[in-house]
Amino acid sequence: MYLCRFNRDRLGVVEEGVVYDVTAALDALPHERWPQPFGDALFRHWDTVRQAIRDVLPTAVGQSATAVDFYAPVATPSKIVCAPVNYLDHRNEADADPANFYHHLNKIQEAGLFLKSASALVGPSEGVWLRHLDRRNDHELELAVVIGRTANRVSRENALSYVAGYAIGLDMTVRGPEERSFRKSIDSFAVVGPWMVTADDLPDPSQLDIELTVNGEPRQQANTRDLIVDVPGLIEMASRFYALNPGDIILTGTPAGVGPVVPGDTIEARIAGIGAMRVAVNAA
Ligand code: MN
Repeated sequence: MYLCRFNRDRLGVVEEGVVYDVTAALDALPHERWPQPFGDALFRHWDTVRQAIRDVLPTAVGQSATAVDFYAPVATPSKIVCAPVNYLDHRNEADADPANFYHHLNKIQEAGLFLKSASALVGPSEGVWLRHLDRRNDHELELAVVIGRTANRVSRENALSYVAGYAIGLDMTVRGPEERSFRKSIDSFAVVGPWMVTADDLPDPSQLDIELTVNGEPRQQANTRDLIVDVPGLIEMASRFYALNPGDIILTGTPAGVGPVVPGDTIEARIAGIGAMRVAVNAA
């Protein structure tokens, strides 16, 4: 199933270029009083919502996917977990980059993972908004993993059973000497979309072609088989330190070819088995 959020607050299922409005399935969510637990409510009640989607889909109204705005398929994750340098070719590129102040942290096995503020999250239709036009703002194309149930101290053997699905991610970054989480948490600097492919429709994330162009010019091209720490390994690594809550997102790291974008650019990102998304770059 290709699950999307569209036109800000509508839930949809995408099939062959048509978005079916299944927002009625959200009526199955229990009413919650403050304080709500961490994590996105849709994914905290994922099994219930999935069943409700199956119930309403046969009578759902469809419209062309080209006529809707796509938002992030997760609305309120408790955290966005990011893998630092996690492709060998990007590690070589990062080692050679004078704007990289973190050479000592270029080995993921030693550096561990970092967090990006959940409030940086947007969908492709919202676009990226640059605040620091005097500095280098880079695109990083990454496979995004959405957690479907609480994962705490999970071993890599069981890790994929905690995944709700996969999406295309952009870990946007302003280069410079500040902490990673500061430079990467700018509002709109976590783009996830255009929808989430459920794990049953994408059972193996370990050999997906990924590619990114800017204004049609090829910038990044790789395959997830070249991840240094793969998806099960990242879930194991993260959940050793903290529980992953339903709806939490893991950005799995970017391959070589990261490069600058400026206002007016259009990023097109594509991952085999998921689809493609177009993201406009704007001046904030
Ligand atoms: Mn990244």
